[in-house]
Amino acid sequence: MRCPTCKSDFDPTLTDTLPFCSERCRLIDLGRWLGEEHILPNFPDPDGDEKPENPIAENHSSSPEGDAL
Ligand SMILES: [Zn+2]
Repeated sequence: MRCPTCKSDFDPTLTDTLPFCSERCRLIDLGRWLGEEHILPNFPDPDGDEKPENPIAENHSSSPEGDAL
């Protein structure tokens, strides 16, 4: 039988924490569920309104080298 947490094969007759191989894996899976539930509502938004100045816009002004064309 394969443990859904650590993905390792184990003997189901040697544990009473099925379907997990051990109490540790059972708690890890439980914590994962609770963790996701806790994280989702507070998901941070990396793409805020603030954006850094665009350096290309400044280059659009007159160039000292002049346009050869
Ligand atoms: Zn396991």
